[in-house]
Amino acid sequence: MNLQETMFREMREKSVFKQAQTYAYDYLDKVFDRQVYPTEAAIANLKHFEEDMPEQTAEAADVIDLLHQYGSPATIPQVGGRYFGFVNGSSVPAGLAAKNLATFWDQNSAMYVLSPIASTLESISEKWLRQLFGLPDRTVAGFVSGTSSANFCALAAARYRLLKRQNWDINEQGLFDAPRLRVVAGKQAHSSIVKVIGLLGFGTTNVEWVEVDDQGRIIPEAMPELDDTTIVILQAGNVNSGSYDPFEEICTKANAANAWVHIDGAFGLWAATVEELKYLTKGIEKANSWAVDGHKTLNTPYDSGIVLCEDGEALRAALHSSGSYFVVSEKRDGMFFTQEMSRRARAVELWATMKYLGRRGIQEMIYGLHQRTVQFADALRQIEGFEVLNEVVFNQVIIRCATDEQTQKTMENIQQLRTCWVGGSMWEGRKVIRISVCSWATTVKDVELSVASFARALVSNVY
Ligand SMILES: *Cc1c(COP(=O)(O)O)cnc(C)c1O
Repeated sequence: MNLQETMFREMREKSVFKQAQTYAYDYLDKVFDRQVYPTEAAIANLKHFEEDMPEQTAEAADVIDLLHQYGSPATIPQVGGRYFGFVNGSSVPAGLAAKNLATFWDQNSAMYVLSPIASTLESISEKWLRQLFGLPDRTVAGFVSGTSSANFCALAAARYRLLKRQNWDINEQGLFDAPRLRVVAGKQAHSSIVKVIGLLGFGTTNVEWVEVDDQGRIIPEAMPELDDTTIVILQAGNVNSGSYDPFEEICTKANAANAWVHIDGAFGLWAATVEELKYLTKGIEKANSWAVDGHKTLNTPYDSGIVLCEDGEALRAALHSSGSYFVVSEKRDGMFFTQEMSRRARAVELWATMKYLGRRGIQEMIYGLHQRTVQFADALRQIEGFEVLNEVVFNQVIIRCATDEQTQKTMENIQQLRTCWVGGSMWEGRKVIRISVCSWATTVKDVELSVASFARALVSNVY
């Protein structure tokens, strides 16, 4: 049998897919209870993948076997409920299943003509996101890999618009002799913002970095005068403390000055969907662009970020690509809203997650994350040796021990116990342990087990 015949047979017989499905279900059965970090042995076993580019065609079953045998044990079970590292969401079952189905569809969501279903689900998701966050009706959405990419798209739109107002077309005339723009951002802006500032040619040393308070929020009185050449970058959800910039006050001033406001709301924008928490995002609708993730707080599978922009023309112009073969339709062509062309149809699982949860489910799930976070912080405050450093407004807790050395050693102990996983960060010049509750699967019991593990791991003396 030649290669083509073999592959037709595999498609027909489906045994390789069934095998992968069996392994996937096996994984799912264990993921909520297993240790939250691979064992040393599992990591050592990754050596089985190391070989030169193989000469011969393999058996498909062997390829999947290899992944299951040595790949699965070396994964991070962030789908479960006791992974609190970085800001990483789990997956809602309907979203995961939708992605699984869409894997077989293997759609290219660049244009309507390439995938009517992907285009339709993008349009509907765009509308729903507008409604969930309370954004202006004219707001458009681009579906990208994550907030880093969404920040890039939004700030490219801002750059396009502010230069265009000065009769400068960035696409044609470039940056070299362009009128100068100003960029104003809080000193606690996320590293992905810093990266985008570099990528777009603004330069980090040209940014007017604004002082923040002890929670990482921009101090409104420290804001410089704004004008119509200024891009203001605000944050909904500080990656350490979870704090929110004062949007209402700053956006009102920025609107009056005709400045552009972008909000990086990777995980924090979702507070807008919860009655008890939406005081945090008051005023966000006055901004011009927003970046948010599906794969963090909303718990879609990975690779789901969204750029939202009330100036659709600026977004499309900034990311525009052209070519005579494009079939530009009356319908939505997704590529015009992102910097990419061919993209997988990530709106499928985003749509499925929102369709399944509904507004009420989203609210319940996200408020649940907050409640578990408050539980975590309250329990840690009871343990002598831990100090909670932030106001627990959303889903983040930062703590430290008496000294940096104790904090570091305690964190390493927690990681080694493998009951839960947390990482470290820096806060006001000192080492901290950061806890992010971002998985729908985290239960009261998970938090109790994790707190017990923190207590066991606590180091009071390090010499
Ligand atoms: C996670 C995060 C980002 C980056 O998002 P990705 O989806 O990882 O690209 C940007 N800003 C904030 C505040 C974040 O928490």
